[in-house]
Amino acid sequence: NQKVVLITGCSSGIGLALAARIAKDEKKRFMVYATMRNLGNAEPLVEAADRTLGRTLELKQLDVCSEESIKACVDSLPERRVDILISNAGMGLIGPIECQSIDEMKTVMDTNFFGLVRLLKEILPDMKKRKKGHIVVISSVMGIQGILFNDVYAASKFAVEGFCESLAVQALRFNLNISLIEPGPVITEFERKVYEEGLKTDLSKADKVTADMFTNIYLKNYKQIFESLGQTAEDVAEHTHRIITMDDPPFRHQTNTLYTPMTTLKYADPNGDLPIETFYKMVFEHDKVFNASLNFLKLLRWRSRKSFTLEKDKST
Ligand code: NAD
Repeated sequence: NQKVVLITGCSSGIGLALAARIAKDEKKRFMVYATMRNLGNAEPLVEAADRTLGRTLELKQLDVCSEESIKACVDSLPERRVDILISNAGMGLIGPIECQSIDEMKTVMDTNFFGLVRLLKEILPDMKKRKKGHIVVISSVMGIQGILFNDVYAASKFAVEGFCESLAVQALRFNLNISLIEPGPVITEFERKVYEEGLKTDLSKADKVTADMFTNIYLKNYKQIFESLGQTAEDVAEHTHRIITMDDPPFRHQTNTLYTPMTTLKYADPNGDLPIETFYKMVFEHDKVFNASLNFLKLLRWRSRKSFTLEKDKST
């Protein structure tokens, strides 16, 4: 009576941690199909999966940008059955929009948004027929709140959130669940890749103020934000494992309690000015306050780790 879980983007980061965590479920409740674009990159997952490989975990090829590859993967599963879909594959993009090409932006939308749409076009009709299924999407806090120089990435995650919020109403009619997992900063390849690409940005098309803002404010603080607020991929996997084992899973779940004060600002002001002004002040007016808050958050992180452990202890 195992549930079939299909996960995308499992060669690194959150996808890898998710595949290993769910395959290692203490009660062996899941059969995991861990998919990736290129099976040549499976080594780190094979290592993390340990003895679950060939038992509760199998590897499959799947590129979320190719309908054929999605269909071939789903067709290869027994009865094409997917009980839990975890849409995780994604990519980032930072920098001033005047320095990015439309093609670069389209690749982000194609992966983060249309990747999810393609998966659901293939999998949702079967779930509706069975009147059973859980669609879990690794979104981001940037799916509900934009961040400086993440314009297109945030737009792609907003698209994901709007799409899922619309579908969720229909899903209820078919007894299906949809959950958006919203991590804050997570320390993965994603962060490194995005930062390195960011460093290479050709800023010649940006004016001096914008170029300076990107290099001397955004990039300078980037690493520090990940260091003080960043979660591990394993932590996000733990949260997601908890969500898929719930009888009545929530539609939205933020994984980083340190970040919730920021997202709360959005709901505190219907005019929408409060989060924008707060981000502005944090970035431009109160360099010292910003650093002080980061130090404060570091302290809180220790406390929240402790409370997360306690919560886990209670449930076992
Ligand atoms: P990552 O770069 O380690 O993982 C992303 C994975 O997606 C990679 O394995 C990559 O190969 C794969 N991928 C990219 N394009 C693909 C395609 N066309 N088909 C199949 N796979 C493809 O980064 P991560 O942090 O583990 O990111 C996973 C998800 O988490 C993404 O959706 C990302 O937006 C989201 N997220 C990340 C952070 C963060 O700070 N790292 C924060 C919030 C949300």
